[in-house]
Amino acid sequence: KDKHKYSGVVEDCCCDYETVDHLNEQVLHPSLQELVKTPFFRYFKVKLWCDCPFWPDDGMCRLRDCSVCECPDSEFPESFKNPLRRGLSSEDLVCQEGKPQAAVDRTLDSKAFRGWTVTDNPWTNDDETDNVTDSAFPFAAEMTYVNLQLNPERYTGYTGPSARRIWDAVYSENCPKYPSEELCQEEKILYKLISGLHSSISVHIAADYLLDEATNSWGENLTLLYDRVLRYPDRVRNLYFTFLFVLRAVTKAADYLEQAEYETGNPTEDLKTQSLMKQLLYNPKLQAACPLPFDEAKLWKGQSGPELKQRIQGQFRNISALMDCVGCEKCRLWGKLQVLGLGTALKILFSVNGQEHLGQTLQLQRNEVIALMNLLNRLSESVIFVHEKGPSIMEGQISS
Ligand code: FAD
Repeated sequence: KDKHKYSGVVEDCCCDYETVDHLNEQVLHPSLQELVKTPFFRYFKVKLWCDCPFWPDDGMCRLRDCSVCECPDSEFPESFKNPLRRGLSSEDLVCQEGKPQAAVDRTLDSKAFRGWTVTDNPWTNDDETDNVTDSAFPFAAEMTYVNLQLNPERYTGYTGPSARRIWDAVYSENCPKYPSEELCQEEKILYKLISGLHSSISVHIAADYLLDEATNSWGENLTLLYDRVLRYPDRVRNLYFTFLFVLRAVTKAADYLEQAEYETGNPTEDLKTQSLMKQLLYNPKLQAACPLPFDEAKLWKGQSGPELKQRIQGQFRNISALMDCVGCEKCRLWGKLQVLGLGTALKILFSVNGQEHLGQTLQLQRNEVIALMNLLNRLSESVIFVHEKGPSIMEGQISS
């Protein structure tokens, strides 16, 4: 019975589960996997040592895998480091995924990514950064490039009260669970987006789990997938919903994203990036089978539409600030990136009125575009994993 729960149209969306799975497998997932490897999309500039505005950082990281592999330590000016980190032994700073390719070309800013603005969190710093370019923005110096390909989102051992506190705050303080249908569509949507993202994070933990610490063997943990996601049909539904919501934002901003500059100083790679973006944005199969993954025109329409929109923006700003409190560096990296991606999707669907010409109204920063496409890729991976593993798990075929 459970197996058939995910048929029909994805709630509040415009395409059915079967179509989404098919399109994802055939069209979206292959292109996205290629796209996120390109130089433009694999480097994310982020402030990792942020002060949590809510609680002191309690560093609940159990595994070294928690730490992010940035540029080699020698390249990194001492003054940029967080005082909390200076107390750690050098062993704690060993980059577990450190490979020669981990070195990031720090001159990248001067020769590539031209014409983009970048700030650590446009949702909390937005007033200060209007029209300020990367080099002029004071906080940019505290930001560091992370190669996302070398820092995959997976099990890190981050758990317990610290992790729970973040999720609790995200849900209860900013985005209360809405038990009844009386609540407006807009607020329900914020909850579903967060829940969908939470499902996706859990799916990635299950897909790449440390099975045996002694032998450092990694693999799938299907019991965890069932316990945290599959046994709750609404979590699976919210994952699909979030995927379609973000997909809609990407296709809605197609003209803007197509014209954006993806130059990184490597013409071959940059051409590839542009062509992959085109493939994704104007895919005929996608346009034929699911032309409107989510209908934002139905949003913000009620009597108190503008007020709700403002409230949601405020709540989202808090959620985004909470990511600085995630006590595990790699989780913080992916938390910040994905929440920024969600915010960017919301921004596109907030600011773009179907009647207006996109190019005139929409302004995105480089990090927002990187976060948006990497988030779409993460969601696409989660949908694939759930679709592939779900039915057999639900039929009780886990070989334990
Ligand atoms: P949690 O996942 O912590 O869930 C807490 C409670 O939230 C659950 O008991 C349930 O009531 C509710 N809940 C759970 N899922 C959903 C859902 N989809 N929708 C609605 N409600 C839900 N750990 C890693 O190993 N790797 C990571 O990359 C990673 N990234 C993280 C990023 C962030 C931003 C945060 C806050 C945590 C991250 N963690 C990561 C920790 C991880 O998400 C869990 O918190 C941790 O594994 C403990 O899991 P848990 O079983 O206690 O349940």
